[in-house]
Amino acid sequence: MPQNSVLHTSLAYLKGMGEKKATLLAKEFQLFSFYDLLYFFPFRYVDKTKYYKIQEIHEQMPYVQLIARVVEKQLLGEGRKKRMVLEVKDDTGVLELVWFQQPKWMENAFQIGEVYVIFGKPTEFNGRLNIAHPEMEKYDADKTKNLASVLFPVYHSTEKLKKFGLDTKGLAKAQWNVMPFIQSEIQETLPNYILHQFQLIGLKEALTDIHFPQDEQSLQHAQKRLKFEEFFFLQLKMLYQKIQHNTKFVGHLFAHVGEKFNTFYHELLPFSLTNAQKKVIKEIRADVNRPVQMNRLVQGDVGSGKTVVALMSMLLAVDNGFQACMMAPTEILAQQHFESVRALVPEGFVKVAFLSGSTTTKQRRILHEELVNGDIHILIGTHALIEDKVQFHNLGLVVIDEQHRFGVEQRAKLWRKNHIPPHILVMTATPIPRTLAMTLYGDLEVSVIDELPAGRKPIQTVHLYETHRLRMYGIMREEIAKGRQVYVVFPLIQESEKLDLLYLEQGLEHLEQQFPMPQYQIAKVHGKLSNADKNAEMEKFISGKAQIMVATTVIEVGVNVPNASVMVIENAERFGLSQLHQLRGRVGRGAEQSFCILMSDVKLSREGRLRLQTMVETNNGFDIAEVDLKLRGPGDISGTRQSGVLDMKIADLVKDQSILQVARHTVIEILERDPNLIHPENQLLKTYLQQQSKGLTWDKIS
Ligand code: ADP
Ligand code: MG
Repeated sequence: MPQNSVLHTSLAYLKGMGEKKATLLAKEFQLFSFYDLLYFFPFRYVDKTKYYKIQEIHEQMPYVQLIARVVEKQLLGEGRKKRMVLEVKDDTGVLELVWFQQPKWMENAFQIGEVYVIFGKPTEFNGRLNIAHPEMEKYDADKTKNLASVLFPVYHSTEKLKKFGLDTKGLAKAQWNVMPFIQSEIQETLPNYILHQFQLIGLKEALTDIHFPQDEQSLQHAQKRLKFEEFFFLQLKMLYQKIQHNTKFVGHLFAHVGEKFNTFYHELLPFSLTNAQKKVIKEIRADVNRPVQMNRLVQGDVGSGKTVVALMSMLLAVDNGFQACMMAPTEILAQQHFESVRALVPEGFVKVAFLSGSTTTKQRRILHEELVNGDIHILIGTHALIEDKVQFHNLGLVVIDEQHRFGVEQRAKLWRKNHIPPHILVMTATPIPRTLAMTLYGDLEVSVIDELPAGRKPIQTVHLYETHRLRMYGIMREEIAKGRQVYVVFPLIQESEKLDLLYLEQGLEHLEQQFPMPQYQIAKVHGKLSNADKNAEMEKFISGKAQIMVATTVIEVGVNVPNASVMVIENAERFGLSQLHQLRGRVGRGAEQSFCILMSDVKLSREGRLRLQTMVETNNGFDIAEVDLKLRGPGDISGTRQSGVLDMKIADLVKDQSILQVARHTVIEILERDPNLIHPENQLLKTYLQQQSKGLTWDKIS
């Protein structure tokens, strides 16, 4: 769309809109221009030509339309509970309609014996079906017959917008007023050959039909076209950028596999690598052995041994005269990486340092100096280490652990650390479903550690209700008697920290009764503790002094105590699947049989039950991630909303996987034939990317 298009006009100037409404739309939905509104698509359509029989109606239906006769009229309740209830009837049954607002007035609006066309959302109340505040229209046999087949768009709205007449109907009206501009202002974005190849309709037609489809089929065509386009350009931006990035930025060459790497591998490594670990290290070596910046994502389930892969990659950097750093999302995690690396490499072998928010100014001063003059080989820490004031002598590799907690901006910062950007290795224990990975990390190479170190027994997971609490204590006692350790985790409900602590304290009290001192020691870790206290408590558990660790979710990722064999999760229904899986991964790290006990109330939501059931049924992180994606949708899973990548306007990463695959495949083919998009038939694509890059700083994003 040209820069001077009318579609850039502020919504305030749209017919029937005005300043006030426009300001609200900007505030509630970030809609500023005609164009923005045009791309604000309906999330559902209502077929107003379809009538349901009362018997067919059920609670799950979004909207229904029916024809029925009023048979009874009652004013019920007192004060604020006052309501008007109509009973309506057709030849299949009876249904209640309820009005809570102005019930008295409503009472006179409808007559017993009259037939109405009723439209609304069915809900269940006290086991009975009803419709609250339906739209009512006197039935007119002739009129209904003549209605053309029309799907009505339904738009998201908010209470504030509704107050100003911008409910779904008001929004539809506004859309209607934008429609006349489509013809002159919208230009096709996809080349003809792609439209032909996939039988896609043109953009003008699609934008019209997505709002006001004539029938089911034209709606489907519009949806297909717009979804394809959305995925297509996302993939094109990402993959085109990757090509440009690779030609523009040379990478450091790690040509030698030298002394540090070899000594570590042959003499220091206390176990043999799994085949999966070997495979991934080989992939990394191939990446850094060519003058292109590596951008690799390593996915490996909890306990699959990613740390050692990271360490060996860092040694490769050191062997080639470079420094390496490793970032973790939390202080505790970073600390633990530091400890595990130090446990694997002796003092004097390589110099490893730690940096976090709690590093003192004095320590920092020394550290900064040692980094700049190259004394420190490996730096481990939190994101404190990507602050601008931290400078390196020669940073060659950055390992990012638990990537999903790092924003895209933070990743981009690394670019500015050096003239030549460092190689990037991203590690995640949150398996990402393939389709999501394609979209989020479509520009990264992906390695998978799909094997656990030998000798691990699969963790046994049980789901127990409150009423079986004693059984849970029994399992704990048995394991502790064998010399094992136990985690007990409480949920952290952000809305109410006070309540969290209360639950935690109550839980602690019970535990202290069941596991009294001095026979038992309990370490306690929660968000209210200072870092020093937290570390002291962790230390009690890590060293084995405490048999039990009670915690809120701070131990969610990374903590490594191989002797721990039981993970008890209280109020497990309150946790998301990926969190549960992460927590469970804290045990089962030694050769012993480990257990995960999910405690919950008997009353569970359907979704809560499904989550716990999934946990009991499988230990496979990828399967769990798939279920999670289906339950929650992609946005919450990645936690990388700010990337904008997941702000899909119409496409759905779960439901539209096949379109995504076709779009990605098409992009790959195009870029293979024409990597710089110089062929005339791809001119449109080039133009699109150029326009985009004006607004977006896309090249900063990996
Ligand atoms: P994660 O992938 O969850 O980060 P870690 O790197 O923390 O896993 O490894 C988990 C545990 O497994 C650690 O105690 C580590 O020393 C051990 N480990 C890693 N690789 C192997 C292996 N190949 N054989 C045996 N133990 C291993
Ligand atoms: Mg780890």
